[in-house]
Amino acid sequence: MTKPSLPTLNSVVTCQSDYDPESLKVDQALQIVQDFVASSAKALETETVGIYQSLGRILAQNIISPINVPAADNSAMDGYAFAGSSISSDGSTSLTMIGKGFAGHAFNGDVKAGECVRIMTGAIMPNGCDTVIPQELVEINNDQIQFTSTAVKAGDNRRLKGEDLSVGSPALLAGKVIRPADLGLIASLGMGEVAVKRRLRVGFFSTGDELRSIGQELEPGCVYDSNRYTLFGMLTRLGVEINDFGVVRDNPEDMRRAFSDAAAQCDAVITSGGVSVGEADYTKQIMRELGDIAFWKINMRPGRPMAFGSIQSSGHQAVLFGLPGNPVAVMVTFYQFVRHALLAMSGATDLAPQTMQARATETIRKRPGRTEFQRGILKTDRSGINTVSITGAQGSGVLRSMSEANCFIVLEHDQGTIQAGDLVNVVLFEGLL
Ligand code: AMP
Ligand code: MG
Repeated sequence: MTKPSLPTLNSVVTCQSDYDPESLKVDQALQIVQDFVASSAKALETETVGIYQSLGRILAQNIISPINVPAADNSAMDGYAFAGSSISSDGSTSLTMIGKGFAGHAFNGDVKAGECVRIMTGAIMPNGCDTVIPQELVEINNDQIQFTSTAVKAGDNRRLKGEDLSVGSPALLAGKVIRPADLGLIASLGMGEVAVKRRLRVGFFSTGDELRSIGQELEPGCVYDSNRYTLFGMLTRLGVEINDFGVVRDNPEDMRRAFSDAAAQCDAVITSGGVSVGEADYTKQIMRELGDIAFWKINMRPGRPMAFGSIQSSGHQAVLFGLPGNPVAVMVTFYQFVRHALLAMSGATDLAPQTMQARATETIRKRPGRTEFQRGILKTDRSGINTVSITGAQGSGVLRSMSEANCFIVLEHDQGTIQAGDLVNVVLFEGLL
């Protein structure tokens, strides 16, 4: 298996003028992560999958339309097709009906001036016709139809050949994450298989002597490991291949083995815990030993301590994200740094999350000098105004704040306290499609 070959972290970091690993701004950290990943971006292999399996995958090649969609001009309405030049300049137009055309059963004759054809939606426009009058605007008398001349203009209610996709033009571009509309688009071209990037392999594990797994007894001072489950959820939603390396105890042998195994098998490795300041565990030591890692204190809340870089094992390199241990900090740092990096490594092009502005319903206390990611509930009131409130206790261990929220409220680095009614930036958790 080939691995992306990474530049040294130092070569990326030194591009930053005011780099201080003890006090890094969110934007700086994000830039380093993005630059490091971009400069290492070795394209993942391509694989061909059936159309159903391509949902959520990343398109590996442009799809060039082999046909026109639609293949011919056709009717957009149930009504009567005729030549627009037959519309009378008097108030009323009368036409003689000479036949019928249905979707899949075209009318094959020629239509002359003063004539029309009964036509259904999707039926090919007969020869000589460029206009359709909807049936509800027409009075019928045997084979004669009549309508008000101003009810329709030449060319109305007709879909043009190739107006959706024209032959030879790109229908979908490489790097797009395939969504339901794209499945339909691909099917409309008659294609049953799609070339996609292979899934990025992402390994993850939790670190900590206090962690217990589901089914184990919870002794005093212990907590159930929840981070592996949120990571499972976030990574699954991202569409990567996941590899769960379990809980790793705070001892050097277990750590070394876990990091080596994960780096040997995966393109990226995510850990949680053990990167806090002054922590008496081995995580940092082992990360340093095996890789090219920077440890950061980022001016953000939650999510201050984080490790980032690459680790080597069995001749392979994997990008490493050493996330904090606190459950909310794991999710915030994932969405702030990891998501973008994994999508970029996967070959995706559209990486920005959906952001919008909303009015705060209450005062939100905030100190300038750090970026805060508060958990919010966004609502749209009856007049279409978006408001956002915070979800109670915002401690970095309070996972309920994430569960109840539907967005992050992002309070920028220099921002002070927000007053009720102020506009704030929010990042939505869910997209529609
Ligand atoms: P650490 O960064 O290892 O010092 O952990 C910070 C806090 O997060 C501590 O309270 C840990 O018990 C907690 N924590 C660390 N890992 C996990 C985990 N996998 N699940 C739940 N809590 C965790
Ligand atoms: Mg720990």
